[in-house]
Amino acid sequence: MQRDITFDAWWRFTRQYLIGDDCWEWQGKLTPDGYGYCSFMGRTHLAHRVMFLLVRGRWPKDCALHRCDNPRCGRPDHLWEGDRAANNADRDAKGRTARGARHGRWNPGSPHHLRGYLIE
Ligand SMILES: [Zn+2]
Repeated sequence: MQRDITFDAWWRFTRQYLIGDDCWEWQGKLTPDGYGYCSFMGRTHLAHRVMFLLVRGRWPKDCALHRCDNPRCGRPDHLWEGDRAANNADRDAKGRTARGARHGRWNPGSPHHLRGYLIE
């Protein structure tokens, strides 16, 4: 069940974005791969997924992906919803697989690898 989002939670979340001409960059805490994350409504979430929720009114079904390949970005029109296969294809196309290997358990572009650390 989705709890109602309070204005306070909304405000504390959105003020951590720096609204740029292009990307909106997260100014808060970052995962080792550069994804913004935060506490939102009492639980820890990836910031771009929270932005997806605020804009669409629901969590992304599988992944929220970045068109701009900027993991800090939360600009709504830079985010798109994809499944795991699309996420992997997108990551491969952008050549980020090797970087993921260096980072060990953190896999860039894949919030699924954050399970156990971040709660969906
Ligand atoms: Zn962007």
